[in-house]
Amino acid sequence: MKLLKISGYFDYLREGEEESGEEERDFSEQKCLEVLQNLQMEQYEEIADIPMSALDDLFLEVIGGDKYIKMDPNQEQDVLDLFEECTVDKKVDLEMMAKVLGYLLRRDCSKKTALLVVDVQNDFISGSLALKNSPANQDGEEIVEVVNNILEEHPFDAVVYTTDWHPEDHCSFYTNVSKYPLHESSTVSAEEAKVLDKVVYDGDKPIEQVLWPPHCIQESEGAELHSELNVKEDSIRILKGTHPQIDSYSAFWDNGRSTQTILFQEFIDRKITHVFVCGLATDFCVAYTAFDSNTHGFQTFVIEDACRGVCDESIEGMKTKEKRNGIKIIESSDIKDIIEI
Ligand SMILES: [Zn+2]
Repeated sequence: MKLLKISGYFDYLREGEEESGEEERDFSEQKCLEVLQNLQMEQYEEIADIPMSALDDLFLEVIGGDKYIKMDPNQEQDVLDLFEECTVDKKVDLEMMAKVLGYLLRRDCSKKTALLVVDVQNDFISGSLALKNSPANQDGEEIVEVVNNILEEHPFDAVVYTTDWHPEDHCSFYTNVSKYPLHESSTVSAEEAKVLDKVVYDGDKPIEQVLWPPHCIQESEGAELHSELNVKEDSIRILKGTHPQIDSYSAFWDNGRSTQTILFQEFIDRKITHVFVCGLATDFCVAYTAFDSNTHGFQTFVIEDACRGVCDESIEGMKTKEKRNGIKIIESSDIKDIIEI
């Protein structure tokens, strides 16, 4: 909710300016970038290093002297958290910060919607990781028609298709565990590792990994989207899990949160406000994508009848957590009302 909360603050400042009838200020991305450079924001190596006083300087400079009303500490923290998304290898990315600032300041309040279609790929439907063979016995193929109907009925401002896209030596395959060092906290050894076990890999920081059969190998038929899925022209394509040593459930970040895809930037560029998530699997890639969409500030909806999952317990667990975080669980028949309000 951060982006929305902070947007409210910026809208308030902007309204005041419009009422006073003063000349419009320059809130372009270029101007925001200049201000960030003038304030030498790049001197802060990590977002966490930016002091609150620097944020005050930043907003004074962008918004203008007498209109500036000091943010409360919660809002300042929200801005810092949001800028946390503007990092590359944990380093402050000024251009991305300028994009977010410009977005917040220029944002018109009209609703802009995106549909995120997660991993509707052969391997999850009829291949090596077919959901119908997993504990919940759900059939991924059933959602293809539902997703096609959603696409036919609603004019989204952006449509995104994600695909799991693994190299053959990917660390999520139970057959590859011996290729990578395990952390001492891993209770499962390389020899005994089997599908759905959890291991902990060693690295910059220990990272838990659920093990799967080899699936969605780059360029393989199993990695292709289902042949009957309607793939819109001008859609955004996101490849996940391309690095051998780190898995990616979310369409925004890898599981170690060290590398981010282009999706956040695409949504900021397109002024997206509402994100609808559907696809496979409910309790993994759909859920992680929805959580990231939510923390990045987009109003987020999971379309339950357009998702299928792996285990009943984790499907329910994720649903509870999603609701607690403000993500709305809806049916495809609810989309019309949400888009049109
Ligand atoms: Zn995968």
